[in-house]
Amino acid sequence: MNSFTFSKSCLFLSFVTSALLLSGCEKKEEAPPQTHIVAVAPKMSVNEFIDEANKKLDVATLENNTAQWVYETFITDDSAIISAKSSERFLTTQKELLAQAREYQQTPMDPPTAKAYTNLTKGLDLLPPDKSEEISELAALGTKMSGIYGAAKYCKDEAAKDNAIKKASPDEKGEKNCRDLTALSEVMAKSRNYDELLDAWTGWHSISPQYRNDYARYIELANTGARAYGFSDLGASWRSGYDMPAADFEKDVERLWTQVEPLYKSLHCKIRSDLSKHYGADKVPLDKPIPAHLLGDMWSQQWGNVYKLVEPYPGIGSPDITGALVKQKKDAVAITKIAENFFVSLGLQSLPESFWQKSMLIKPRDRDVVCHASAWTMDAKMDVRIKQCIQPNEEEFLTIHHELGHVYYFLAYNNLPMLFQDGAHDGFHEAIGDTIMLSITPEYLKKVGLTDKVVSSEQATINQQMRMALEKIAFLPFGKLIDQWRWKVYSGEIKPEDYNKSWWQLRTQYQGIVAPVARSENDFDAGAKYHIAANVSYTRYFLAHILQFQFHKALCDAAGFKGPLYQCSIYDSKAAGEKLQKLLAAGASRPWQDTLESAIGTRQMDASAILDYFAPLSAWLDEQNKGKTCGW
Ligand SMILES: [Zn+2]
Repeated sequence: MNSFTFSKSCLFLSFVTSALLLSGCEKKEEAPPQTHIVAVAPKMSVNEFIDEANKKLDVATLENNTAQWVYETFITDDSAIISAKSSERFLTTQKELLAQAREYQQTPMDPPTAKAYTNLTKGLDLLPPDKSEEISELAALGTKMSGIYGAAKYCKDEAAKDNAIKKASPDEKGEKNCRDLTALSEVMAKSRNYDELLDAWTGWHSISPQYRNDYARYIELANTGARAYGFSDLGASWRSGYDMPAADFEKDVERLWTQVEPLYKSLHCKIRSDLSKHYGADKVPLDKPIPAHLLGDMWSQQWGNVYKLVEPYPGIGSPDITGALVKQKKDAVAITKIAENFFVSLGLQSLPESFWQKSMLIKPRDRDVVCHASAWTMDAKMDVRIKQCIQPNEEEFLTIHHELGHVYYFLAYNNLPMLFQDGAHDGFHEAIGDTIMLSITPEYLKKVGLTDKVVSSEQATINQQMRMALEKIAFLPFGKLIDQWRWKVYSGEIKPEDYNKSWWQLRTQYQGIVAPVARSENDFDAGAKYHIAANVSYTRYFLAHILQFQFHKALCDAAGFKGPLYQCSIYDSKAAGEKLQKLLAAGASRPWQDTLESAIGTRQMDASAILDYFAPLSAWLDEQNKGKTCGW
């Protein structure tokens, strides 16, 4: 089910991410009243404070990650309690550190200390409210929403639902009639029957209304926390994590979107016309937004699954990765080894033995787990893991590359102090594995035995580019709009009574899609997306989609590749590997602009590499769209 643009909260063991994991709190009572109220000088120097923060976070994150790992790989009422309590303790530690940090706001600092201080206090996905009962409530709501999302099943009828809940044996009627997100996503991916798709789509979207009220309360509490630390709301905290003023960051995101918007609209135009041919103009009108359930994915965020419907030149030159994996009987471990091998070919280390022992690479048959793929560093050293329900198909094959990108990032910076153990910014973390995926070219697949022939022709190129664009270009507006919506929810510009209406306004405005059936404020369609239920900020994925092409170009240059960017694979290039390692090893020890400059010679994120990469398709789409009315 998981597409490779997802990550999850525990991605970064660092303070920042563990904080995403929510919590409640058995907090100590307030200190007794002070006998004097004049501010006293901080007890320790700021450098000593940062040292202490690093040590405390080291201990707290290990404990918290352990509890979260158990919970997500074994969802029960018991593990939910352990998870919530552990998050609660973590937030308490965080809260104490943040309170202490306030004493140093005006203290002069050397650059590394200032950066550590920024990492401690800015860009946090969640900030603890002052009152311990509010922390507890926030934690409980977070656990509840993730729990419902993770264990959710859509059942055709109530009797089936009861059976599923009672864990009736799989051959009984209950399990058959109840489908979880994995099963529903399978329908979205494979079915091309309008009504079947509609059933799967509406089924999944019938789950989230359960926590619509919880979500509204969650936002209230999360804002209370943010305000306690001087932010106007939690969205302002999210936007503060990019080593630049929040307003400049917003402008930067807008600038990048403006660069890529024409290509998205051009792709949308062509895909809509192809879908209209398949489903009929009554179902897919040529001048209207596309119904959201027809794009091969529960959230219409990546459209690769409809490739066969829109393939520019049927049957030409598209390597069949799924077919090869199935035919060669590659299991989850074998698939993971293929991805590991790519990193090793660049000169990076093999994965530690514990990775293979402790990861969850297949979906257990006997219990509920959060299948959403994620990468974990448990101890900020060598205990790195992946949790993914790998099946032998192309999507999972790509996802494991994405997740290993996180893992190699963790390993590259594991000698840094805790507050530097993070991506240069969160978009960097999401971009690494995807950068490697851009090197999964037909030539590369042939080298590793996953295809036996490479067709090189203009038509094969367009086909290949279309496959990529359905993932990479189709995703861009979705990547942007999730937080457009949430920034407004946090700021109060979007009120709880308008959650659904505003959600669909943005979906239509940016993506050019529309809900397939009438919606109302009894629905909570935003909550049908993992990152909303789990409160994980999302702009990182948008940034990652831009950055990965920038990185790819820089690594291809390092590898000495000459030729069009889309043909480059850095497989086996130690020079590219060295450059990559340098980028990763810096972690979050410097402002991201410095890291970007030293790695690829520019201080700006820029979309020209992605446009450059898709130049052939872009020209082809212009040709195809001639005479069509594009837009919606
Ligand atoms: Zn990720």
